Amino acid sequence: MPDAAVAASSSQATGGSTTQQVDVAVVGAGFAGLYLLHRLRKAGFTAIVLDEAGDVGGTWYWNRYPGARCDIQTIDYSYTFDPELETAWKWSEKYATQPEILRYLGFVTERYDLRRDIRFRTKVTAANWDQATERWQLATYDGATISCRYYIMATGCLSAPKPPEIDGVKDFKGEVYFTGRWPHEEVKLAGKRVAVIGTGSSGIQAIPLLADQAAQLTVFQRTPNFALPAHNGPAPADRAALLESDRATYREQARWSLAGVPWPQQTVVSWQLSDAERRERFEQAWAAGDLVYILTQLWADQAVDVDGNALICELIREKIHGIVKDPETAAALSPFDHPFGAKRPCLDTNYYATYNRPNVTLVNLRQEPIRQITASGIATDKRTFDIDVIVFATGFDAMTGAIMAVHPITGRGGKSLSDAWANGPQTYLGLTVADFPNLFMITGPGSPSVLSNMAVSIEQHADWVVDRLVAMKEAGFTTLEATQTAQAGWAQHMADCAALTLHRLANTWYTGANVPGKAWGVMPYTGGVGPYRSICNDVAGRGMLGFRLTGPNVAEQCNDGEIVRLQPDVRLVLGMLAEMNLPPIESLGAQGARDFLTEFNKGRPAGRPVGEVGDGMLQGAAGPLPYRLYRPATPGPHPIVVYFHGGGWVLGDEQSDDPFCRDMCRRTGMIFVSVGYRHAPEHRFPAAAEDGYAATRWIAEHAADLGGKPGPVTVAGWSAGGNIAAVTCQLARDRGGPQIAGQLLICPVTDCTFDRPSYTENATGYFVTRSLMYWFWDIYCSPADRTDPRVSPLRGKLDNLPQAFVATCEFDPLRDEGIAYAEALAAAGVPVEQLKGRGHFHSSLMMVDVVITGVGARAQMANALRRFAGLPESKHEGVGPGVAAPPHQIDAAAG
Ligand SMILES: Cc1cc2nc3c(=O)[nH]c(=O)nc-3n(C[C@H](O)[C@H](O)[C@H](O)COP(=O)(O)OP(=O)(O)OC[C@H]3O[C@@H](n4cnc5c(N)ncnc54)[C@H](O)[C@@H]3O)c2cc1C
Repeated sequence: MPDAAVAASSSQATGGSTTQQVDVAVVGAGFAGLYLLHRLRKAGFTAIVLDEAGDVGGTWYWNRYPGARCDIQTIDYSYTFDPELETAWKWSEKYATQPEILRYLGFVTERYDLRRDIRFRTKVTAANWDQATERWQLATYDGATISCRYYIMATGCLSAPKPPEIDGVKDFKGEVYFTGRWPHEEVKLAGKRVAVIGTGSSGIQAIPLLADQAAQLTVFQRTPNFALPAHNGPAPADRAALLESDRATYREQARWSLAGVPWPQQTVVSWQLSDAERRERFEQAWAAGDLVYILTQLWADQAVDVDGNALICELIREKIHGIVKDPETAAALSPFDHPFGAKRPCLDTNYYATYNRPNVTLVNLRQEPIRQITASGIATDKRTFDIDVIVFATGFDAMTGAIMAVHPITGRGGKSLSDAWANGPQTYLGLTVADFPNLFMITGPGSPSVLSNMAVSIEQHADWVVDRLVAMKEAGFTTLEATQTAQAGWAQHMADCAALTLHRLANTWYTGANVPGKAWGVMPYTGGVGPYRSICNDVAGRGMLGFRLTGPNVAEQCNDGEIVRLQPDVRLVLGMLAEMNLPPIESLGAQGARDFLTEFNKGRPAGRPVGEVGDGMLQGAAGPLPYRLYRPATPGPHPIVVYFHGGGWVLGDEQSDDPFCRDMCRRTGMIFVSVGYRHAPEHRFPAAAEDGYAATRWIAEHAADLGGKPGPVTVAGWSAGGNIAAVTCQLARDRGGPQIAGQLLICPVTDCTFDRPSYTENATGYFVTRSLMYWFWDIYCSPADRTDPRVSPLRGKLDNLPQAFVATCEFDPLRDEGIAYAEALAAAGVPVEQLKGRGHFHSSLMMVDVVITGVGARAQMANALRRFAGLPESKHEGVGPGVAAPPHQIDAAAG
């Protein structure tokens, strides 16, 4: 039914109660709901906000426990949509208290005259999409109903307190409080024996103040958390000055940052720093008293690499032992079960020192679990505690709790959200759900939400939703719904992002692990606030990609597809390359292109140390050639890998794939000899191929002199180097040796045909372009020679070749010829493993310490090389995340 047909703003519902008719109903009057109401009104929509609470504030209405504060600096944890609002309000502290934040939200409410469209003490209990009218019908606790075109759940990520899972709570005769539902009247604790159950953010904030008041405080801790001193006080002068000096830039940087606070991206990785340098950085962060700072500014690998992260955990544990006098208590307070940052760390004021007080006891529930709560106290497996007051700081059913508490939410075809989310929340962008038209969630699961400064994320979501509603209205659309393809694609992208970080290694409320029976999965988007914002903008910019739009007088629009198909770090790298606006390499001429490559390579991480790196000369097909040898630190002799670099037979040298050779040398425990073969145009076909073969022969013959293990060698190569490796295997078979144990071909050139789909699909935009490939071919090989197997090995005889591992990348013009080669080898009876790099481009598996999603692929390549050499598979640490599909054996065709 068109909106115009909804003549009255309210109508009589069955049973006599009134149904209010609005364009938009927003549930929740916290940070999100208030801003939404302001924007919706300005955009000309009729809107109502409903909240169960008695006033505005959301989180800050409910969480009134002693010590409740924000833990993102208040100058950042503020609205930014109106510069005049920013100057009209001044925060008194670095981390404002709950009363001050509540006053701020009240101030905002009055300033924009929001109160008249907010209905308090109104709990929404159910929501139903009425297909006939294309409107949502909301039911409320008091029987009133609301009919709206658009239903926005601004119900909060941390607004559904988690009930305690302990027997006997009802039997307890003393006072019981929940930090998330703290009473408005004063709670008197003086002279009382108080128990706190739970040591998450709220518990850690409350414990020092409860200890001040109570006669005796007993803290029951199941899992210790990392806590850092807040060093609260006035807003730090340097941050305030930065903001004041250019407010607009500061806010814009926050919007595009990783966590919603403008700190720069770190580039130095932990192993590039000495112990002393790392300690200095850590001490600086400890003194800063800033969560986002310590979570992002120590070293670049702190959130993605187990080893880089463990260094921080150790330094914090050292601090805990330095503060807490009783070593047993200090040990119990020291987290060991999760990486730093994988669970939300806390900011504290005197938290650890509180355990030095005589009136405070820590009970380690890992050693003595709570058996039950009795009428007079708490009984563990070992002891009984007489208690007057129990404070539950047991956290929230985060991210989905408040959404699922509206039950049922029924979408298209009677589908219920509880069924749709039975195995965990499924969303598109964390904003919408397929089959639930016109339903939006603010900071929903699948968006950065709790992993960010939520003030920034809330504004971004509210702006995106309202902007879309305005655009729809202008175009005549009245319904919007995510497609299944888009939603599935988002789930894949979420999983790819989560695989990059260490969140997957912790059981936390981010993953739903704190709620019994809740499906496990990393719920917030871990790809960062800025990248997320660009994706949302991209969706709109690409004709609402992944959404179906309908309206009474317009043709349906459905631009279906997945918004991100690249691996998250690959996407960032390609974005950075695009921003550099580099000239096409082929426009530079051969020498210009070589100079460019040399300069370009200077900007990449240097690669990790190996046992030894040495340069030498070997005998090529027409004279001496340089080589670079990478030797593992372990005692030799080691099996040898002869490696051929990439560069289209035109660029590169024995040093140009240095980080990759180092990485593979470390992973395989094998010697890598990188060969500096001759290049075109000075030396055209078949110079590179003949050099490759000659070099392999020379290396095999001199294996012992090189400190290697005599016997068969293995060959490997990337791109044109993969071509040379493949050709070398054919030549070695046909020319009586040397013996080759296996071939690792990474994105190899295998054929002179350019009509496979990957050449068209990935012609531009992925660094190695079709035009660049044409240029390489033209320089190296005249058309008459191109079908020669020494440059198009796919056209050669393929039986009796060494076993192979062929890696290809999805967004690479060379993808399909690599796959064709692997399949042809298998058809010829050669054992082949194939790895398809989903979401990768031609160079990304080689980008060591830049593209982390390439790590898994390199670990698999390394294991293949070890197998070729007869070594057991490596259990190398940091195998880490990788391309989704593990390599698979291609069935060799009979015969
Ligand atoms: C103690 C604490 C400290 C925090 N500190 C920070 C911080 O420093 N920085 C940061 O970024 N984030 C922090 N957060 C997260 C905080 O929740 C968000 O920053 C922000 O306040 C969320 O705003 P919101 O409007 O999305 O949701 P909320 O503030 O949670 O508001 C949601 C509202 O929806 C109402 N509601 C829910 N369901 C229904 C229903 N069915 N019917 C009617 N009403 C309903 C609730 O009553 C509530 O009032 C903190 C959270 C807590 C609990």
